[in-house]
Amino acid sequence: MSIETKNPGKNEILFVWLNRYAGITIKTTSKTLVIDPVDVKPRDFKNVDALLITHEHYDHLDQSLVSEIHKLTQCAVVTDNTSARRLQNAIPSEKLHVIQPNSEVKFGEVSIKAEKCNHPAATPVSFIITSEDGVKIFHTADSLPFPEMATIGEKEKLDVVFCTVGIAPGTSPETGVEIARLTKPKVAVPYHTGSTADFKKFAELLKAEMPNVTCLIPEVGKIYQVSKRT
Ligand SMILES: [Zn+2]
Repeated sequence: MSIETKNPGKNEILFVWLNRYAGITIKTTSKTLVIDPVDVKPRDFKNVDALLITHEHYDHLDQSLVSEIHKLTQCAVVTDNTSARRLQNAIPSEKLHVIQPNSEVKFGEVSIKAEKCNHPAATPVSFIITSEDGVKIFHTADSLPFPEMATIGEKEKLDVVFCTVGIAPGTSPETGVEIARLTKPKVAVPYHTGSTADFKKFAELLKAEMPNVTCLIPEVGKIYQVSKRT
């Protein structure tokens, strides 16, 4: 079943992992957001309110795919500065929102805030998404842990944090668990790997270090539901 035909209940969100990288679709009660889509078919997306890009690397930004999804759905596009420059001929300026750490855009009652991203790209960002019901998702892109993550975790009371465990420079199941340790979410989701061993290691380390955090190992294409912490 497609996430497009499913709706979250009150105080819930749905998400789907799209590829081996940081590609995620998030559905709140009123909006559909797609983050870093690559290796997907544009026609799989029919209703998208906003498409978010964290940085310009090939496994996060596919310019022609972004352009095609935009043409099919008329979605807004929210990106870091470098990706925005690459998209400026494809996306009309009134639909292209450039974002940097500490800036925020809102779509109806849904907030998208950019934060720092500790990754060797030109102007990378991570995203904190707050649903209309206050469900909080931290999409850390390819980030390594950084000290401010602890402050973010305390302030935001995160429900879901996506933690990179591989492929990107310096990342591993250990750095992924460090992100969970700093941000203290209700649910930690390892991603950005094609390796079952990375997932297993992340799950083991998380269980040992933070037994109260739920580990959700995603499968590409499957729909997951997360509710707000109580
Ligand atoms: Zn990446």
